[in-house]
Amino acid sequence: MGITLYKNDLPDDIDLGKVIAVDTETMGLNPQRDRLCLVQLSSGDGNAHLVQMTDPSFEAPNLKKLISDPEVKKLFHFARFDIAILKYALGVDCPNIYCTKIASKLVRTYTDRHGLRHVCKELIGVDLNKQQQSSDWGAQELSSEQLNYAASDVYYLHQLRKKLDIMLEREGRMHIAQSCFDFIATRAQLDLDGWHYDIFEH
Ligand code: MN
Repeated sequence: MGITLYKNDLPDDIDLGKVIAVDTETMGLNPQRDRLCLVQLSSGDGNAHLVQMTDPSFEAPNLKKLISDPEVKKLFHFARFDIAILKYALGVDCPNIYCTKIASKLVRTYTDRHGLRHVCKELIGVDLNKQQQSSDWGAQELSSEQLNYAASDVYYLHQLRKKLDIMLEREGRMHIAQSCFDFIATRAQLDLDGWHYDIFEH
């Protein structure tokens, strides 16, 4: 597994293919308060490309182009948060997404454990170490533990999608899953605009 760290943007000649796993690390869970520190990308080949935001006035045109490209499918685990932070921090929409957490909730109805660690363990037998989840992602120099942790959040999403798609097909829930994925951008916008509760409930 190889990790490449870039500062403030991707290089302009990078080609990560048409299906990319994406994750973000931030200073906290409030997109309006807590800045974006790291964006992790993987094409599912065992390599991770990490973009660290060290310059407060970063522009990141190459990253924005990739995130906003409707021809590129982006795989997330809990896309709702990542889409909101990417919208707020980069000012771009992120079309064509797949969320392994939503897919898991739609098919793994025998459990309420949908965290990445649990889904990875059950579906692909991979043990993820989440120890660095809460750490100072704003540091100028990220530790090797932080970089390894951040990379591990994007390494397995392609494999998970493959397993989850088989289950979605088997249970006849592919269509509702796609509808949910298509709605996530709206859900994220509601979060940014202050509707944190479920507007569909009574
Ligand atoms: Mn993460």
